[in-house]
Amino acid sequence: MLDSGTFLRWMAAMAAAVDRDADLLTELDSAIGDADHGANLRRGFTAVAAALEEEPPRAPGAVLVLAGRRLISTVGGASGPLYGTLLRSAGKALGDEPEVAPARLAEALDAGVAAVARLGGARAGDKTMLDALQPAVAALGQDRPDAVAAAARAAAEGAAATGPMRARKGRASYLGERSVGHRDPGATSAALLFAALADATGEAA
Ligand code: ADP
Ligand code: MG
Repeated sequence: MLDSGTFLRWMAAMAAAVDRDADLLTELDSAIGDADHGANLRRGFTAVAAALEEEPPRAPGAVLVLAGRRLISTVGGASGPLYGTLLRSAGKALGDEPEVAPARLAEALDAGVAAVARLGGARAGDKTMLDALQPAVAALGQDRPDAVAAAARAAAEGAAATGPMRARKGRASYLGERSVGHRDPGATSAALLFAALADATGEAA
């Protein structure tokens, strides 16, 4: 079972991962976007980690709601509202449950992914964060003891699979065919989010 301590470690691990890989995320965004994805997420998750440290919520859902709100209020790029919506919607779905099983988290994240799709109008195969998020959440929902590690692997595979795709949403879509051959920055950071969850639960991916 995952408690609020696990969720706090998850967000702290994501902040550390985004800080460590900010240059990579920016490099990917410089190829098919405007070279700010690393800086956007570093600003956002640094603020998330600070807010959670200052006043750690006592329920998993509340951790995600606070994180989502912080992302929306601190990140100017598209990824802030999108990740913010993902976490806030998932947090709301969890309510005040004190502990959640991975499959329950998967249900909540599924609601979050649906909210991201509504907000951004993207679907699977459009070369966005959804291409990593959707397979990761599907793997997390499977009834198996290593579901968290499987989710992290599925997210990484989903991110890698965006390379040959042609972007149909977001800034990268302005490039049309020229977006082919570059991995999507947001799908790459979504893989970091699930690697951070595996870190927090002690399940190596
Ligand atoms: P911006 O595009 O405003 O510069 P970022 O660079 O921080 O914002 O984030 C870009 C990432 O956001 C993309 O790589 C993609 O994964 C994701 N993204 C952009 N638009 C959408 C959308 N409509 N739906 C889902 N994800 C999107
Ligand atoms: Mg950008």
